[in-house]
Amino acid sequence: MSSSEDREALRRQINEAFAGAASPGDGRIAEDPRCCPECAHADEAFRGRDWRQMALSGERLPGNYGGLSFLSEEAWRYFLPTYLLAGLRDDSENALNAADNALFHLTPSDAPDRLRDWYHRRASGFNAEQRAALVAFLDYWYAEHPDWFLCLDFQGTRDYWSRPAG
Ligand SMILES: [Zn+2]
Repeated sequence: MSSSEDREALRRQINEAFAGAASPGDGRIAEDPRCCPECAHADEAFRGRDWRQMALSGERLPGNYGGLSFLSEEAWRYFLPTYLLAGLRDDSENALNAADNALFHLTPSDAPDRLRDWYHRRASGFNAEQRAALVAFLDYWYAEHPDWFLCLDFQGTRDYWSRPAG
């Protein structure tokens, strides 16, 4: 398969895996929008948005301050595929940024136990089909850009998502 066929197959897999994802609802975007400016910004950026339309829009997705990190568990699971799909849209800077953000968020934290539990709680809510799509996304980028993984634990991350949830 050519790289563009791989990409198209992966887009389809992500679309199908997350097609039935339920919106977290406007009251469950940021955990607490009043917590800090970053949470307020994230709440504003994602409230009322559809994960798929946001991916296809070509817009620059919120990153760093105002991005996925500040979302509730449900919203994080709903909007993570936005970054996967946007990262596969084209070769624009916005797409590469989205892919980079997605890979960061797919990497289980090396942080202390407290944060590891926090990550695991968020991550364990994906079903088997969705986890398979996340693994396929990792494999795609590892094949395309092994250099991106110099600071990311590819094998550990892949193993993490390959295990059944729970
Ligand atoms: Zn906050």
